Amino acid sequence: MKVVDVRTHVLLDPGFDPDATSSAQDTVVVEVETDEGIVGIGETDLNAWIARACIEAPATHTMDRGLRELLVGRDPLDPRARWQELYVGTAMTGRRGALIHALGALEIALWDICGKAAGVPCWRLWGEPARETLTPYASLQPEVSSFDAYVRSMVDWGVRARDLGFRAVKCEATFSGPYVHKGLRGPDENVVEVAAAVREAVGPELALMVDVQYAFDTVDRAAACADALAELDVFFLETPLWVDDLDGYAELRRRSPTPIAQGEWLSTHFEFDTLVERGCVDVVQPDIGRVGGFTEALRVCELARRNDLLVVPHAWKTGISVAAAAQLAMVVPHMPFFEFLPAELCESRLRKELTLDELVFEDGVLRPPERPGLGVELHLDALARFEEAARAISG
Ligand SMILES: [Mg+2]
Repeated sequence: MKVVDVRTHVLLDPGFDPDATSSAQDTVVVEVETDEGIVGIGETDLNAWIARACIEAPATHTMDRGLRELLVGRDPLDPRARWQELYVGTAMTGRRGALIHALGALEIALWDICGKAAGVPCWRLWGEPARETLTPYASLQPEVSSFDAYVRSMVDWGVRARDLGFRAVKCEATFSGPYVHKGLRGPDENVVEVAAAVREAVGPELALMVDVQYAFDTVDRAAACADALAELDVFFLETPLWVDDLDGYAELRRRSPTPIAQGEWLSTHFEFDTLVERGCVDVVQPDIGRVGGFTEALRVCELARRNDLLVVPHAWKTGISVAAAAQLAMVVPHMPFFEFLPAELCESRLRKELTLDELVFEDGVLRPPERPGLGVELHLDALARFEEAARAISG
């Protein structure tokens, strides 16, 4: 089998808000077409126009090529070998960051092709099932007009998620740092107040995660928060310090009674090697696209297993990324939860409309994906509409 074409789609939710911090408002989707008529799809999470440039750029020499031209003509049925070729062939621009994120979309599409060619879901290509059902967690999104409204909205979402059957929720509690929503700043005690209100509302049974989105500029601030959260039985505290403050993470992890999670922005297993070697985290959070695709995500899962760490991947995009996370969760026993926003509960039109997917949430769990490949199809009318919206702002 040979790859004959790579099509890159930049998509935008027409109702996007440039002041929002949600990366679910736009996306880049690839279709990798083969000479046998099988088309694989993939997605990744970065500036969609930059991703397209990484894929479509022409080359003038051998160590700095575009991903598309490296892939066309090659056999899609050996994704690990293709990953290595793309990684080396783009090394001067790539190795980390945007180019690896873009490579991830293509690599996911290659596994989709492999699954479709074999007539099995992707996870069956990687090993035995680690579980009979998948346990999703619900991400709660705040209303930010005031602190009272913030707390109320998180409590309402938490109760709604519990009533729908969710066994785990993650609440955003961000009042300082780069992610502060619409300027709603506040003291660090607000984080604990939000988490306490949600804990009280949902009860002791649900797993409760807290995401502060890089809020703290010192280990002392983060440690004080982690101490207070321990009394609320918080499953993990996500990204308390800036992503590159590895000394800070290592010290915080030594001091914190609450498990620390990080990794959503990292690319390649090499960056996770460093994070883990330096003792920075209890929970690693690869985003399957950004880390470089399934090949790299599986390496990160293996790294976590060897070091007795948990994996809870980041997946805040469309049904393609959700399907990818579900495939991975099927074979990773130390992945207790995975991020899952039911389409009917979310605001992003891309999440709601782009894909026809098979995952049905019932009694707090999802059944194993059984369709060939990733198990999702693109809704082509929606694809065209979102592509048009992206063209409208970029020409
Ligand atoms: Mg996060």
